[in-house]
Amino acid sequence: MITVQNLQKSYGGFQVLHNVSLTVARGEKIAILGPSGSGKSTLVRCFNRIEPHDAGTIVIDGTRVDQTIELTRLRCMVGLVFQNYNLFPHLSVLENCTLSPRVVKKIARAEAEDLAMNFLHRVNIADQAGKYPIQLSGGQQQRVAIARALCMQPSVMLFDEPTAALDPEAVSGVVDIIDGLAADAITTLCVTHDMGFARRIADRILFMDRGRILEDAPPETFFTQPRTDRAREFLSQML
Ligand code: ATP
Ligand code: MG
Repeated sequence: MITVQNLQKSYGGFQVLHNVSLTVARGEKIAILGPSGSGKSTLVRCFNRIEPHDAGTIVIDGTRVDQTIELTRLRCMVGLVFQNYNLFPHLSVLENCTLSPRVVKKIARAEAEDLAMNFLHRVNIADQAGKYPIQLSGGQQQRVAIARALCMQPSVMLFDEPTAALDPEAVSGVVDIIDGLAADAITTLCVTHDMGFARRIADRILFMDRGRILEDAPPETFFTQPRTDRAREFLSQML
């Protein structure tokens, strides 16, 4: 369960998040939509403190995310998959997946490798385990990045435009992965510009504009009967 209350964040004098509040239940799948620059990435980055917030509260599974939290523990709880996958170039796929569990969670190598192979199977890339990132396509790297995050066994997964570099089949693969996470009670928040993808994965859509959540609704409601003019305008440009 995630509870965010009156979250505020500025860069210099520019306020990016204005009193953002939301609640997300365990295992829920949320898609965050909105125009470029509306604060979507900033919001999810606050959840694992890649960006510290200025005011307001974030509580994840009973733990308050603030300056006192141990970042290693937070990042075990909250996984983040970026738009540009950030794999370690000098490590194989398998080593990319086992490094943090071994170093941070002190899991033995054999156990970490079993776990990694399990998640690499799940994202359908286990046959590439011995390769290096540069030897993989963009979509394959993306799936490795997802497997690597899952190897930390987080209770919350944050995705920032996970489908940007993917073909339709690979997008379907990510949809299956996210459905699988929900089945394991892992909560997913996913920033995306892909409306079709959002509709397929989301239990709820959050629509952001200029640092505020303007709409919070099930996909069927949001896509057919948006409440605000801003969302209607945004959706009309997508057609
Ligand atoms: P996009 O859809 O283009 O990814 P977004 O909704 O994810 O956009 P953010 O990346 O959260 O938007 O950025 C929100 C605002 O904050 C933008 O105006 C951006 O220029 C600004 N911003 C983001 N990161 C920084 C930073 N590190 N320093 C200064 N300003 C920033
Ligand atoms: Mg962004």
